[in-house]
Amino acid sequence: MNQHRDHAPRRRTARLAAACALAGLLAACAGPANIEPPQVDVPTPLPSGIDFDPEVAASTPDTSCDPLASYAPGTVTAEQAIADLDDDGQIAIGVSQSTNLMSYRDPQTNRLEGFDIDIARAVAEALLGPDVTIQWVPMTSGDRVTFLQEDRVDLVVRTMSINCERWNDIEFSAEYFRAGQRLLVAKDSGIDEVADLTADHSVCTGATSTSGGNIAAANDQVQQVTVPDFNDCLLLLQQGTVDAISTDDTILAGMAVQDPTLHIVGDTFSVESYGIGVQQGNTDLARFVNGALEDLIADGTWKTSYDEWLKVPLGTDANAPTAVYRD
Ligand code: GLU
Repeated sequence: MNQHRDHAPRRRTARLAAACALAGLLAACAGPANIEPPQVDVPTPLPSGIDFDPEVAASTPDTSCDPLASYAPGTVTAEQAIADLDDDGQIAIGVSQSTNLMSYRDPQTNRLEGFDIDIARAVAEALLGPDVTIQWVPMTSGDRVTFLQEDRVDLVVRTMSINCERWNDIEFSAEYFRAGQRLLVAKDSGIDEVADLTADHSVCTGATSTSGGNIAAANDQVQQVTVPDFNDCLLLLQQGTVDAISTDDTILAGMAVQDPTLHIVGDTFSVESYGIGVQQGNTDLARFVNGALEDLIADGTWKTSYDEWLKVPLGTDANAPTAVYRD
C-alpha cells in the first residue's frame, strides 16, 4: 500500500512535466525561430599534470661529457648482451604509443608503427632473432630514465635526446637520428618564427623534455605551459589554450600531418641527437645495440624507414648520422 501511495504523486509530477514540455515546445514552434541556446559554462578539458607556470631554466648545449660518444661494438656477441636482460627470452622496450610517425598504435592493425618502432624491432631481432617476443612498455618522456633505473624496461626507444645530464643515470647507444627543435602554430596565427612569440603568447612543451630549456634559451619572453606527455600539447593548441607547441621537428611533423590547419615555422634552434637508452652498467648490451645500429644502417633498413615515415613530412632527405665511440 505504502508503495502505491508513494508512487502516485510521482506519476502525477511526471505527467505534469510532460504536459509542460509539450506546451513549451508548441510555444517555441510558434515563437521566433532564432531563440538563443542556453549559455552553459563548460570548463575546457585540460590534461592532468598541466603546469601553467613552470620554472624552466634556459639550457645551453653541454658537451663536457662528449655525449655522442658511445661504446664501440667490438666483439660482443648476442649471447653476452642477452646476459644483461632479466629474462633472456624476451626484451622490454619503452616507447611512446601516441607519437604519430615515430611511435604510435595503428588502429587498423593494432600494431605499433613508426620510425622509432622500426629501429627498436630491428635491434630486438638482432639480439633475440626474428621471432623475438617484445614487451612494448608505453611511457611518457618523464618515465624514460626512471623506468630504466627501476628495471622496468631493458631499452628505451622514444625520441630521446642524448645529453650529459641523462648520461649520469643511464647508458646511451650511438646517435641513430638527428632531430632539431622548432615551432608548431596555427596557419592563421601570424607567428612565423620563435622571435615572434611575446609575453602575451604561451607555448606548450613536454615537462622533463629538453624542449623547455631550449625554448627558454631561444625566447625569454614567452610563457611556457608544460604537460607530462608532449602529445597532450596538440589538444591545447587546437582548443586555443596555447599559441604554439615547441619540440623536436619529428614530433611536430607528426602533429602537422594529423591536423592540416597547423604548420611548422621558423628555423631549427637546437640539435636533438636521438639515442637508445640502456640501463646503467649494461655496457655489453649498449655495445651490441651499437653493432645492430651499424648493421641496420648498412643494410638499408634505416633509410627505408626514414623514407616511409619522415621524408615527406619533414620535407627533407636524410641519412643516418655517423656513430662516434669512446673506446
Ligand atoms: N628529444 C627531446 C627529449 O628527449 C624531446 C622529445 C621528448 O621529450 O620525447 O627530451
